Amino acid sequence: MAIDINQLPVTPDDVSAEDFDNYVDASEFPPPLADGTYTLKPLKVEFDLREAQNGNPAVLVAILGHEAFDDSGNSLGKLSFDRISDKVFLRSDVKVSMMADQLRAWGDSQRYSSKQEKALAIKAHVEAGDTFKAVTKREAFCNHKDTSHEVTDSKKGWTVKGNKIPDGATEMECPVCKKQVRVNSKVDRRIPK
Ligand SMILES: [Zn+2]
Repeated sequence: MAIDINQLPVTPDDVSAEDFDNYVDASEFPPPLADGTYTLKPLKVEFDLREAQNGNPAVLVAILGHEAFDDSGNSLGKLSFDRISDKVFLRSDVKVSMMADQLRAWGDSQRYSSKQEKALAIKAHVEAGDTFKAVTKREAFCNHKDTSHEVTDSKKGWTVKGNKIPDGATEMECPVCKKQVRVNSKVDRRIPK
């Protein structure tokens, strides 16, 4: 329901006021990295723990941000929000995890058992500036937010990947809700060292 402007508070907002002395204007995002194989250097890592529920064990999640380099060592840009977890799944009938893939890409094949050991190992590799090789793929995703098509389960959203995205595209139009969504580069496969 709309509110009459005359009813709005006239006292100053102090707690969350904008910082006009150091204001940062929104800028265009850089074009996503072309699909390819790069050397990635993690710049930071944060951890999250998804509690055990519905009979599924707890899952440790690491959220990494990387800088990408070509074979000559030239910086090409950044990849943000690279999420890896220790959730076990089957690959050719063998139990694996994305977190173990990441450690092996660093050349670390130690068998960490506790979540704390895994997190400490990842943190140590990031802090040491250890690089790894990975294949990246561009991806655009839409959950049709704020439209009548909105979904809460990301698996039910619209996704387009890799060479289905035109070269150089920074945005794609979602065919479901017609919104423009950003194209991001994501780590598709980590290469064991
Ligand atoms: Zn959409």
